[in-house]
Amino acid sequence: MRITRKKTRQIQVGSVKIGGGAPIAVQSMTVPHPSDVQGTVEQIHQMEAVGCELVRVAVPDQDAAAALPKIKARISIPLIADVHFDHRLALKAAEVVDCVRINPGNIGPWWRLAEVIKAVQDQGIPLRVGVNGGSLERPLLEKYGYPTAEALSESALNAVHAIEDMGFTNMKVSLKASDVHMAVDAYWLFAHQSDYPLHIGITEAGTARTGAVKSAIGLGWLLSQGIGDTLRVSLAADPVEEVKVGFEILKSLELRHRGVNVIACPTCGRVEIDVVRLANELEKRLSHIKMPLNVSVLGCVVNGIGEGKEADIGIAGGQGMGILFKRGKLVKKVPSEELMNVLIDEVELMALEQNDAHEEVSSPSASPVSRVTIASHDSHDASASRELPVLPSR
Ligand code: SF4
Repeated sequence: MRITRKKTRQIQVGSVKIGGGAPIAVQSMTVPHPSDVQGTVEQIHQMEAVGCELVRVAVPDQDAAAALPKIKARISIPLIADVHFDHRLALKAAEVVDCVRINPGNIGPWWRLAEVIKAVQDQGIPLRVGVNGGSLERPLLEKYGYPTAEALSESALNAVHAIEDMGFTNMKVSLKASDVHMAVDAYWLFAHQSDYPLHIGITEAGTARTGAVKSAIGLGWLLSQGIGDTLRVSLAADPVEEVKVGFEILKSLELRHRGVNVIACPTCGRVEIDVVRLANELEKRLSHIKMPLNVSVLGCVVNGIGEGKEADIGIAGGQGMGILFKRGKLVKKVPSEELMNVLIDEVELMALEQNDAHEEVSSPSASPVSRVTIASHDSHDASASRELPVLPSR
């Protein structure tokens, strides 16, 4: 599968470029009320350690807005303020953060939106325009009868055009729905009528497992169509998990490469070692490595080396003695009880040799066999047609 990423405009959120062919950025959202500065900062550091590149905090009240400078001073990744209902909180947040997210559907009359636009413009920061299936404007609900992908896309386009009319274009857009079909269709419709960078996500996706599956399906489909410039996986779980799942989705599509990718066989009647325990332990103990490496854990030597050819390094179980192999070649035999520690030592050495300074191959073009291309401007001229595209059949 080759992925041709849609060419979008590029904006900059703090130090992170979004759109225009930049690596798809992974972001997440903190859980504590921002007035718990210590708790919020600690969580941001935990998220950053597993790859979070942008962090959003909810700003539900004045106390939260007042805490933003203290949080900003203690973190290094860009900070985004998430504001609903009270536009005065967005005005205050804009003085501190790297981007403000608002939902035009719940911010009230247009003059309030205009004040927010002026505030972000004065600060030279972008705006995220986030429309949501749960807060569509009344005329659209009357037109479509209930929230639909078409209504969601039209809502986002209306907001974007209104903001453009105010002379502002420094924005990214999100169209959130918890229904995977609706969210995917809405993003698809919007992406074919606009070239603003897209923040993609399935909102309120669910618990760690359900939400990860929903997100992988929804975001995976969009990303495979070249749609999406930054993403957040929404889980009813620790945001650290959101970041991990987000990166796994990107890694699975070879859109990003970061850290150890543990390949484990499903096991069968030939299994000689505890693959499940070893694979889980490996993921934990190698989570500090940022160099992209494929590490394989295979239950037996029957097909072991052959099945592990795609891996940079791996182990295969045997009776009392397993083997360590690198890129499909046997390196040495190792007593079964030492397999884990030997493998971890070798992976750490490998990561060191490959130079952690160049830890991340984040640009698609840097990949030796890139499956990703960026569409030319000509192939995605948003101004060429404002007609509603037809949704792809599934
Ligand atoms: S590697 Fe061995 S144990 Fe694992 S699935 Fe293949 S044959 Fe079975």
